[in-house]
Amino acid sequence: MLSDIRIVLVETTHPGNIGGVARAMKNMGLSDLALVLPKVFPSEQATARASGADDLLAAARVVGSLEEAIADCQVVIGASARLRTIAWPELDPRTAAARIAGQPEGTRTAIVFGREHSGLTNEELERCHYLLHIASNPEFSSLNLACAVQIVAYELYLAAGRGAAGRPGAALADGEQMASFFRHLERTLHDVGFLHERRSSPSIMRRLRRIFNSAQIEAQEIHLLRGILTAAQHSAAGAGIRNAEEN
Ligand code: SAH
Repeated sequence: MLSDIRIVLVETTHPGNIGGVARAMKNMGLSDLALVLPKVFPSEQATARASGADDLLAAARVVGSLEEAIADCQVVIGASARLRTIAWPELDPRTAAARIAGQPEGTRTAIVFGREHSGLTNEELERCHYLLHIASNPEFSSLNLACAVQIVAYELYLAAGRGAAGRPGAALADGEQMASFFRHLERTLHDVGFLHERRSSPSIMRRLRRIFNSAQIEAQEIHLLRGILTAAQHSAAGAGIRNAEEN
C-alpha cells in the first residue's frame, strides 16, 4: 500500500521544507515524492533537513504542473489548512488512511500539499477527489508543511500495518482517463444544448466533477460512460442541434 502512495508538493518555497518532507516520508515507509515547480531544488538546505533521506530527494520527480504529477493516479487527495466554503468530500487523516488501505491493490493515490503562503488554489482542489484536513486550532490552523506531511504519513503507516492487503478488484480510472472523460462530458453537454454560453459552465462542471470523482469509477466504466456520451452527441447531431463529429 505505501509504495502506491505519492506525496505531491506544489510550488514549495523553502527547500528546507522539501528536506523535512523527505525525512517524514522515509520515517513512515513512503518513497514516492513529486515536486511541482519547486522554487529552489535541488538544494543543500533540502539535503541537510532530509538528514539521511537523501535517496528520496535524489529520486524525487520534478514536474511542471499538478496535472503531470497526478496523471497516473486514480485517487487524488488535497490537504488543506482551511475548511472550504465549497462542499467537497472531506476526510481527516485517519479516515483517509483507512480508505486508502481499503482500495483495490495497485490503486495509485496522490496526496497533494500546497504552498507555504497560500496553500492550494480552488482550481487545484477541484482536481482532487477528497480534501484532507488535519484538525487544529481554527484560529491558527496552518501547520508547517513537513509537519502536515508527517501526520498524514504516520496515519498511513499505521493503516498499512493493520494488515489491510487491499481488496481485489478492477483498476480505477486514472487522472488522465478522468480528465478526458470530463472534456468529453463538457463537449457533449454543449452539443445537446445543456450548457449554453449564458449558463455558468465552470460551476456546473465543478459540480459534475465532484459527483463523478466521488464515485471511484473503474477504468472499464469510463468506456461505458464515454459510449453514452458519444451516442448522445450523434443523436443531437441527427436532431440538428450541433455537429457532434468534432471529437
Ligand atoms: N497558509 C496556507 C497554508 C499553507 S501550509 C493556507 O491558508 O492555505 C502548507 C500546506 O500544508 C497546505 O497547503 C496544506 O497542504 C498543508 N497543511 C497545513 N496545515 C494543514 C491542516 N491543518 N490540514 C491539512 N493540511 C494542512
